[in-house]
Amino acid sequence: MLKQIGLALGLACSLLAASCQKPGGVDGDRIVAAEKNGEWLSYGRTYSEQRFSPLDTINAANVGQLGLTWYGDFDTDRGQEATPIMVDGVLYTTTSWSNVYAYDAKTGKQLWRWDSGVDKAKGFQACCDTVNRGVATWQGAIYVGTFDGRLVKLDGKTGRKIWQVQTVDKNLPYTITQAPRVVKGKVLIGNSGAEYGVRGYITAYDARSGKKLWRFYTIPNPTGAADNEPSDTVLKNKAAATWPGEGWKQTGGGGTVWDATVYDPDLNLIYFGVGNGTPWSPTARSDGKGDNLFLSSIVAINADTGAYVWHYQVTPNDAWDFDADQPLILADLPLAGGARRVVMQASKNGFFYVIDAKDGKFISAKPFATVTWATSIDANGRPVESPTARYQGAANMNSMPGPYGAHNWHPMAFSPKENLVYIPAIGVPFSYQNDPNYRFMKGAWNIATNSRINGLPDDDKAREATRPFLTGSLVAWDPVKQEARWTAPHKYFWNGGVLATAGDLVFQGDADGVLSAYNAHDGKVLWASPSAGQGIVAAPMTYEIDGEQYVAVLVGAGGAGPTSAHFYLPQVRTTNGRILVFKLGGKASAPAVNVSIPDPLDLTDVTSRGDPAQGAAIYDGFCSVCHSANVSGQFLPNLRRSPILLSSEDWKGIVFDGKNASRGMAPFKAFLTEGQVEHVRAYVLSEARKRP
Ligand code: CA
Repeated sequence: MLKQIGLALGLACSLLAASCQKPGGVDGDRIVAAEKNGEWLSYGRTYSEQRFSPLDTINAANVGQLGLTWYGDFDTDRGQEATPIMVDGVLYTTTSWSNVYAYDAKTGKQLWRWDSGVDKAKGFQACCDTVNRGVATWQGAIYVGTFDGRLVKLDGKTGRKIWQVQTVDKNLPYTITQAPRVVKGKVLIGNSGAEYGVRGYITAYDARSGKKLWRFYTIPNPTGAADNEPSDTVLKNKAAATWPGEGWKQTGGGGTVWDATVYDPDLNLIYFGVGNGTPWSPTARSDGKGDNLFLSSIVAINADTGAYVWHYQVTPNDAWDFDADQPLILADLPLAGGARRVVMQASKNGFFYVIDAKDGKFISAKPFATVTWATSIDANGRPVESPTARYQGAANMNSMPGPYGAHNWHPMAFSPKENLVYIPAIGVPFSYQNDPNYRFMKGAWNIATNSRINGLPDDDKAREATRPFLTGSLVAWDPVKQEARWTAPHKYFWNGGVLATAGDLVFQGDADGVLSAYNAHDGKVLWASPSAGQGIVAAPMTYEIDGEQYVAVLVGAGGAGPTSAHFYLPQVRTTNGRILVFKLGGKASAPAVNVSIPDPLDLTDVTSRGDPAQGAAIYDGFCSVCHSANVSGQFLPNLRRSPILLSSEDWKGIVFDGKNASRGMAPFKAFLTEGQVEHVRAYVLSEARKRP
């Protein structure tokens, strides 16, 4: 097998001599050729995004000898979600705040760093941390989408900026966390922000000039005007009638394309996932009616023109934040009746979908996690909802899964050797309830549901009793039989993305910062790294230089999970994120992570003129998304123990005036009065007294 891979690499390089020899000469042919060799040239390795590497120098027999060979420290303590790429000996990655690092992939020497210059006061418009998932490369250049909505082209050798384009309306709460992809010389980039109030789309830019080529909007234009884009026709003919009511016209409707983007060079199709609506509650969005196309859908468009080809709506009239942006994988599956090219998604809503890649026809779907909102997916591919699925009026509805999803953005991997998909699965219940006080507030958190009812009990015993209901696992899913072959449980629910290799290995990091290698066939743990000292949420990747195979992973907890639900992890602040790179016989060591646990505050003489009850409602609407329904925070300061709580003046200085804007804490004077800010302080004080 080793020899075969070596031959395959040699063959690929001799066939593609020009691109193999020329530094940075990545083009479509080379990305396609990488399906057969060990190169990692795009976010999901290749266009199919299987995250399966044919490298097998590290394998089930020798993985026990894996050791750290180099590491690099970043300059931010926010979450790290990126998958690096490796081109001609250079490893490129992004970090939170969309900065880019280039390393010598063999030695770890930092070659350059590019600072995105993002205004950190925009941090509050991150639903799920100020993360970034990575770069794209094309003909010597590196492309990155920035948190403030720019697409930037950098020189791959120097990190020098070549051009940048603004891809969003800066006056609206758009952000970018997605890694761009490059198809036929077009850089594809979407955006995020559907929890705040935007209208989603994906845009193609000319890789050379940055000129905008076309844009595909995912939902009708709320003004009724034509966009003069390839999406116009289908939005008019198929989508418009599915959007009754007026709520969405005020919010922008949502439907952002914030992650999955896959290309099939044979069918010349681009597939992408579309997210939830704004707000979450259909009652406030479209009078509770209509399918709301193309929210929570998988859409296929022509790779040249951006013209609509097909769509499959995963969750019609989504009420639960069931984005369908989770990673898509393109594969040829041995289904009954012969091999069939399919698009697969372990969707946030808990079902694993197999869809025909050519025409979008529904093939099959089965739950890969506990699902209570629907009982099954019918023959036409439509969910059969449970009688209790819809929350209406003031009643709340308890669901598995919830907004964390049964699977979120964390990359899954598909092994064509095993015909298994390895899913980083999540089990977290959620209670949905319409917020009777909801009114749209431009630029702010707009979900129209009440989050506070999801806070954990303050009492230790009662809190501990909820633990069995929060689960995380690695699920090896057979997409043909639609059933799990094996499941490896985790201690916490928010873990890392997945890599599969021809060495019969599956790699995944966890919330404890341990990177493990599993036997791809049976799930047995074959190797585990020492803890990195902080959680891993990113996916590992692998590459080969001079006959040696490397495995790289970013560490640094964050993203939606730990910001609001690291329920059982110590309430600490982590240090800056890091990249760790392993190889067989690696002997390096990284300095220990310096974890500080702040002491409880002495609140004996601390008073507030604010009203905790009013503060609780404001906190729910503006603060809980980042600081958690439990008023704590892992990489954000634990507010219950923050000294600024001691002084009304200090509190106002940060929350109202924005003295910590450079750390990502925006001034809230645009949304709240000084009195309201003090109400929030009174609420946090009351919480800190209950549970220091
Ligand atoms: Ca969402």
